[in-house]
Amino acid sequence: MSMSNSSQALVQVLNNLTDGSIKVVDLTQPLGEETPVIALPPEFAQSPRFSREVISRYDERGPAWYWNTIHVGEHTGTHFDAPVHWVTGKDQPANTLDTIPAKKHIGPVCVIDTSKESAADEDFLLTPEFLETWEQQHGRIPAGSWVLMRTDWSKRTDEASFLNLKEDGAHSPGPSVECIRFLIERDVAGFGSETVGTDAGQAHLFDPMFPCHNLIHGAGKFGLASLCNLDQLPPTGAILITAPMKIVNGSGSPVRVFAMIPA
Ligand code: MN
Repeated sequence: MSMSNSSQALVQVLNNLTDGSIKVVDLTQPLGEETPVIALPPEFAQSPRFSREVISRYDERGPAWYWNTIHVGEHTGTHFDAPVHWVTGKDQPANTLDTIPAKKHIGPVCVIDTSKESAADEDFLLTPEFLETWEQQHGRIPAGSWVLMRTDWSKRTDEASFLNLKEDGAHSPGPSVECIRFLIERDVAGFGSETVGTDAGQAHLFDPMFPCHNLIHGAGKFGLASLCNLDQLPPTGAILITAPMKIVNGSGSPVRVFAMIPA
């Protein structure tokens, strides 16, 4: 009996992973006590830093086993934003981590390289014009794809320059309001960034404020924040795998993100 085409396709993927002709790139930052956490204006409740306590470590509390209890905000480190995270997405169907269909966690990815522009301007905003230029080179952004904004911001390894807080708030690149409207029109799966959150540092001043929360989640779409290694991805042709924890009614979670790319 011959294998179905889809079985053959899976075997081919496995063979290509084994022989290295498909590479796996980890887009995830290590998660620990040093992981930077977003700072909100002081009148709002803050998300705590990651912390843990040992339950036992091959000792009298558990002679043969090591395990910890962890404390972590849902939106810490490399993490996934579900539509329910924002008030505009609270009535969207399947808007929580436990209800998003598994299929939506695997999809194509478009990588928009703004590393030069973001190095020159820490408040650089991705615009529809920039995306249209990208589309002229790489084709139309397909429905259901992730759009990731490469800024090389993840190479800022010390917390102060990563958060880049000044007297008037954070300064970091991100999408403009019109960029987000453009991506919703393209019916993308979601938008991902290298910064602490998906929106630009100064996005509290936009109208609407925080468009990559307000508009994207209002449209039932997702976010990915604090990604890294985007400089290893091709502009198109990779497959993204995003697997947040399946927290009941969860608004987001630390996530492991992999990209499968042609070598
Ligand atoms: Mn978030």
